[in-house]
Amino acid sequence: MKRRMARACERSRRSPDEITLVAVTKAFESQAIRAAFDSGIRDFGENRVQEAEGKIAQLSDLRSSVTWHMVGHLQSNKAKIAVELFDIIHSVDSVNLAGILSRRLDRPLPVLLEVNVSGEVTKVGFSLGELVAAVKEIGQLPNLKLMGLMTVAPVAAEPEAVRPVFRKLRELRDSLGLKHLSMGMTDDFEVAVEEGATMLRIGRAIFGERRQ
Ligand SMILES: *Cc1c(COP(=O)(O)O)cnc(C)c1O
Repeated sequence: MKRRMARACERSRRSPDEITLVAVTKAFESQAIRAAFDSGIRDFGENRVQEAEGKIAQLSDLRSSVTWHMVGHLQSNKAKIAVELFDIIHSVDSVNLAGILSRRLDRPLPVLLEVNVSGEVTKVGFSLGELVAAVKEIGQLPNLKLMGLMTVAPVAAEPEAVRPVFRKLRELRDSLGLKHLSMGMTDDFEVAVEEGATMLRIGRAIFGERRQ
């Protein structure tokens, strides 16, 4: 994993220091997370509030040294608990959800907006047409720090096939003047690095295959 990342950085003349590796721990037990912590990882991602709640509690001794990232779809009825559990939310996918998060917060919370770049009907996220207006509205909400954009690329046989999706997200990020780009998973993160990702969300390449 580290070697693949280093090579992708070299190819694109980027420093690994400008990229945060978020270890996505869904379906893995807290012992596996603790082992990853011992190997030096400090950023962990979960995609479901309920699953995260149990593990974050079991790892409470590490809490002040770890950044917890919410990367999955967030239901508005879980917003209150999500803002207590997480340090950053990658998956804000509606203005309504952003408003609820803002009202639940009593501190600034970094957030990213999830964008459905490929326009797949099965995917959540802002459409390209909605994004500019959403950024404007969400940018005015108290306590939300809009840091960037996130996308989940379509499943593809070849990682090269998703390059246009990542490139489009970078163009959007640049045109909006935002900082972060959360993109790239186990099967496509090298392409994401080449296209400017600042946060990679990696599960299987770190922890192995998930048992369903
Ligand atoms: C599971 C998940 C990941 C990590 O996927 P891998 O293919 O295991 O690297 C990244 N982002 C989100 C939103 C996920 O749900």
